[in-house]
Amino acid sequence: MPGKKLSDKDLELFRESLLLLRGVLTGDVEYLEQEALDGAGAGSENREDAGAEAYFQELNLELLQRDGEALREVDDALERIEQRTYGQCETCDSWIRKERLRAVPHARNCIDCQRRVEAEGS
Ligand SMILES: [Zn+2]
Repeated sequence: MPGKKLSDKDLELFRESLLLLRGVLTGDVEYLEQEALDGAGAGSENREDAGAEAYFQELNLELLQRDGEALREVDDALERIEQRTYGQCETCDSWIRKERLRAVPHARNCIDCQRRVEAEGS
């Protein structure tokens, strides 16, 4: 089942997730600490930040850290957010489901295409 085009709000949340992920991959702890400090003054305005953190916790960091390409993938994904093509499958042009993007924010392909790629690769 295809997903839907991402709203500006969704794009902003995924951008946050990607920036947090980038912080982990580059060891940019300062950025993470700054995020934590921002979150400490949590008012109703910070609900979106909390959402980004929740996404972030769903990430499979171990898997990402084993992948030397991960940082480049994250940077590419941030670039796609700027170009507003983020969330669109590079293979079939359908929109990637948000559930998948939450687990793999730098995903280039929808789950169907990804399975095909992996099947061909092995
Ligand atoms: Zn696809």
